[in-house]
Amino acid sequence: MSSCNRVALVTGANKGIGFAITRDLCRKFSGDVVLTARDEARGRTAVQQLQAEGLSPRFHQLDIDDPQSIRALRDFLLKEYGGLDVMVNNAGIGTWPKNNPPGKGDFFKEPQPGRVVNVSSLISLEALRNCSPELQQKFRSETITEEELEGLMKKFVEDTKKGIHEKEGWPNSAYGVSKIGVTVLSRIHARKLNKQRRGDKILLNACCPGWVRTDMAGPKAPKSPEEGAETPVYLALLPPDAEGPHGQFVQDKKVEQW
Ligand code: NAP
Repeated sequence: MSSCNRVALVTGANKGIGFAITRDLCRKFSGDVVLTARDEARGRTAVQQLQAEGLSPRFHQLDIDDPQSIRALRDFLLKEYGGLDVMVNNAGIGTWPKNNPPGKGDFFKEPQPGRVVNVSSLISLEALRNCSPELQQKFRSETITEEELEGLMKKFVEDTKKGIHEKEGWPNSAYGVSKIGVTVLSRIHARKLNKQRRGDKILLNACCPGWVRTDMAGPKAPKSPEEGAETPVYLALLPPDAEGPHGQFVQDKKVEQW
């Protein structure tokens, strides 16, 4: 039975920045918060940790690269909530955001002012600056399509396999190029929303959490996971009457020039 509760969802939320985002949303979001993790046991342990702090997240399994897992989550959200209000894509690009772009035929509630936050990295901006002028122009284009972006990402993989990626104008960082993908896909999805759902006031942005002490970044990073969660949570909770930011790359709650 679908409830009228609002609902926010975080991917890769069993540890690190995703866990800190979930904790902060549990405190600040007026509605249910769904902690998702690809591994059920790790996810449920994280939920118990938040429950011990007096918070009440729900749990659902989600592997962002597994179509069956994505379908099961969609069914759960539609049945329980009639859709989704806030989506924090913390765990990377996977096939989840690609197969669930906000826009026509999606499962964002209407006419709620939904919020989408794609966790990218400042490294995407550095990697962009290290691309050839031709590639930079493509990645900054206001008309690049999802298919063209996918083609470029595939070309990077192929060029790297052949050992010619630098000659072809790519930077020497697979992580950097993957995060270019996240930021550019966010810009494409925001443009799509402008065309298809302008009246619904959904705001979608990419962001950098900063350099954060997690398993991924190691213990020397200057920010705590809680500090890393600040910008993603700020974007997830933009007030209902906010006009922006939208389609931007945001760091420390400020829009950076892409
Ligand atoms: P982390 O501690 O390594 O956590 C990554 C999370 O993503 C884990 O929960 C992991 O689950 C989950 N995950 C990985 N693959 C997944 C999949 N296919 N489906 C669902 N979940 C999956 O990393 P983090 O530092 O918190 O990073 C979070 C995000 O911030 C990432 O997008 C990262 O690129 C970005 N970021 C981090 C920093 C930094 O300094 N830490 C800086 C810039 C951007 P398992 O536990 O099952 O592996």
